[in-house]
Amino acid sequence: MGNVLIVVEANTNGSLRKATLNAITAGHQLAKATGGDVHAIVLAKDATALAEAVKEYGVKVVHAASAPQLEHPIAENWAPAIAAAATAIGAEWVGAGATAIGRDVLPRVAAKLKAPMASEILSVDGSGADVTVTRPMWAGAVIATVKLAGAVKCFTARTTEFAAAEKSGAGEVKAFAAPAADKQYSKFVDFKEVKSARPALTEARVVVAGGRGTKGDFKPIEGLADELGAAVGASRAVCDAGWQPNDLQIGQTGKVVAPALYVAAGISGAIQHVAGMKGSKTIVAINKDGDAPIFQIADYGLVADLFKAMPELQAAIKATK
Ligand SMILES: Cc1cc2nc3c(=O)[nH]c(=O)nc-3n(C[C@H](O)[C@H](O)[C@H](O)COP(=O)(O)OP(=O)(O)OC[C@H]3O[C@@H](n4cnc5c(N)ncnc54)[C@H](O)[C@@H]3O)c2cc1C
Repeated sequence: MGNVLIVVEANTNGSLRKATLNAITAGHQLAKATGGDVHAIVLAKDATALAEAVKEYGVKVVHAASAPQLEHPIAENWAPAIAAAATAIGAEWVGAGATAIGRDVLPRVAAKLKAPMASEILSVDGSGADVTVTRPMWAGAVIATVKLAGAVKCFTARTTEFAAAEKSGAGEVKAFAAPAADKQYSKFVDFKEVKSARPALTEARVVVAGGRGTKGDFKPIEGLADELGAAVGASRAVCDAGWQPNDLQIGQTGKVVAPALYVAAGISGAIQHVAGMKGSKTIVAINKDGDAPIFQIADYGLVADLFKAMPELQAAIKATK
């Protein structure tokens, strides 16, 4: 019986984070493949309210670990509790969304459980003892099929590859007594939230991204984004130049997005950028170089100067409203 334990994340207002719903779907697929149940663990100063919300998503038991040291997602504090819960329920798989928190906490959980780990899984295949997962390697140039050995295995799930779990019957909430934290190497100091009127980059239906071709002038990008109710993204060249903040970076070393529509303007289409956006449903590229590699993956390509084409596009969309 391969039970699955999913680590729950909260938004800053305490609500359930969408990335967790994607991870729960990965959990359901693993549980189906291995004949177990999906469990979840909420770690917080007071985990009760969030645990009550999570139990609606086809989760059999939500383990509510409430303790002062669990208030912030620090790996040394969270990992011992997650590992203990995994052992208590006989979990075969322990996972989370491939978010900054999931990427930080799950490797430590894997080390504590002496378990193998697959990062950023894209799919679950097979069943029983033959379950495999796929994961990207070399900036997504290669998709590896991985079979993990051992009684317990860890994973993070790429959130763009698993649909958000839907409400499907309520499970139960059980209090879980968290063990002591590991030796502290890091401590929570401060949290400054970046407030934006635009949608969050990883959750937006439409993303308009600019590259070095903007020469740092993002007005045409922001104008079209606001016309479309879209999030703004950027290539690494833009963030490295300090033209836009790092949290807008899309790609191998930035965020992975898969919106319904991705507009890339003045972006050449380097493999490391494409790794973060090629799952987008429709890709529109605007570049003045007709040989730019971005056109190889674009559904619609416009060979044009972005400073001319973007305002025209914005005006044309406005005229249809
Ligand atoms: C280990 C590693 C990790 C990396 N991680 C990332 C990552 O996460 N994300 C990422 O983006 N990159 C990443 N990179 C960098 C990547 O290799 C590229 O250097 C980067 O993506 C280039 O950004 P760009 O397309 O904006 O710039 P460029 O490659 O310089 O392209 C600019 C494009 O703009 C076009 N252009 C210029 N003027 C105009 C105009 N007026 N109108 C229209 N088009 C115009 C040009 O024709 C050109 O195609 C990484 C690199 C390494 C080595």
